[in-house]
Amino acid sequence: MKRPIHRWKSNSSHEHRPILRERYIIASCCLATFLLLVSNYWTVFKSYETNEQTTQQSFASRFERIFGTNVWCDNKFRRKYRLIEPEEGGGTCKEIRTISDLVSRCRDILKENRNNRACKYAVEYLQDETGKYLKGKEFEIFLRIVKSGVENPDSSIGCYAMTPNDYSTFQYFFDKVIRDYHGDLTGKKIHETDWDVGSEKDRFDLQKLGLGNDTSMRVRVARNLIGFNLPGAMEREERIVLEQTLLRVFDELKTNYGGRVYSLTPKFGPSGKNDNLISKDLYEELVDGHVMFKDMSSDPYLNSAGISNDWPYGRGCWQSEDKTRIVWFGEEDQLRIMTMQRGSNLIDVFSKLNEILATIESIGAVTFAKHEKYGYITSCPSNLGTAMRASVHVKVPKLTAGGSDVKVKAICKPLNLSVRGVGGEHTPIGVDGTVDISPSSRLFVKENQIIDMLYKGIERLMDAENNLKA
Ligand code: ADP
Ligand code: MG
Repeated sequence: MKRPIHRWKSNSSHEHRPILRERYIIASCCLATFLLLVSNYWTVFKSYETNEQTTQQSFASRFERIFGTNVWCDNKFRRKYRLIEPEEGGGTCKEIRTISDLVSRCRDILKENRNNRACKYAVEYLQDETGKYLKGKEFEIFLRIVKSGVENPDSSIGCYAMTPNDYSTFQYFFDKVIRDYHGDLTGKKIHETDWDVGSEKDRFDLQKLGLGNDTSMRVRVARNLIGFNLPGAMEREERIVLEQTLLRVFDELKTNYGGRVYSLTPKFGPSGKNDNLISKDLYEELVDGHVMFKDMSSDPYLNSAGISNDWPYGRGCWQSEDKTRIVWFGEEDQLRIMTMQRGSNLIDVFSKLNEILATIESIGAVTFAKHEKYGYITSCPSNLGTAMRASVHVKVPKLTAGGSDVKVKAICKPLNLSVRGVGGEHTPIGVDGTVDISPSSRLFVKENQIIDMLYKGIERLMDAENNLKA
């Protein structure tokens, strides 16, 4: 006997139809929910690719509001999409438990140093509608952000972001610090990037200003990566993962420019041996040669911020064969990328740096974190924007007579130039009167303007030096 092909078309079909309709409805609902979820996740994934922080933040906070935690987000998105887990404040911040504790501590500090921006704007923020309801994890994270300024009253900025998103999450606080420090009275400026210095080759040749053709020139930029906490919130494991991620970048740089990686990480843990580990002596040699950065664990500001934690894990650098290109990893920012050489044409170091940045970005292993208003994201708000410091070692024996930098600093301040020692920040000037001169501006200024400012600043500094009687 022939079996009916469609049972529901038999006499009893009228009994099956409602059940089938229900199933269709349920299946359609499931499909619609699934598509909605997929499109939601797609938006979030895309936002992480482009570092579109409002979407990331609203997703994370929605998730946290519903489920009471963002741990799932953390695990699900792994490193690339990580959000920090706050920890207890250490040091003197341990006693600060509430907003009013923090406000009163900041007020005390301001009596001592009213230019401590972290304290000044924390007081305003925590009493304003935008900050006075901070609680739980958000408050703990905010405490970590201002911890350095609270523990070091003499700070002039005193705050460090813990994740790239902090500049958006705590924007009402950070925006005030940033616009005050970088001198934006309009409150509306938006950072723009421009490396174009035109085609005139000797436009910035320091020999025209009387400097020698063996002048030490250096340009560096700070960069941090999407998907990692900023150094203040990184744990040892994450610092190692960052170093291992960078090895792919360094392999490519070695292909293009040769050279080698110098690492201070004693061991990578279960994930393997560190072939780039160097001896203590070699490390000291590299520091003396201005190739590596100094031991950060003795810096009280960075200690309070958590930036120097886990020293020396995840710390090191790559240097090219010709020694002129260097990439630091694990200092105040995840990356400090620089070109440094003796010569006289500033365009040489400037263009080389632009080229190496393009090379790193083209590898596709890492993405630099950027903010729509503040340019490249850095741990300290003072470095935002170009994150660039372009410096030249200039000999000014008359202005530094007697080994003092007071006169040279007085001349440089109105020129918007910073004066540092020959070993970098917080080091003494050279015995022959050599100082490190760099434009102070980083944000709301373009890269090509920084080079221009450096050149013009040195021109005026040399005029002052030459006009001084010996
Ligand atoms: P940054 O914060 O820009 O990295 P630092 O002041 O911390 O600079 O100095 C870091 C290192 O770079 C130090 O060893 C310093 O001597 C070196 N350095 C900076 N500028 C120059 C320069 N023009 N020539 C040689 N070394 C330099
Ligand atoms: Mg430095």
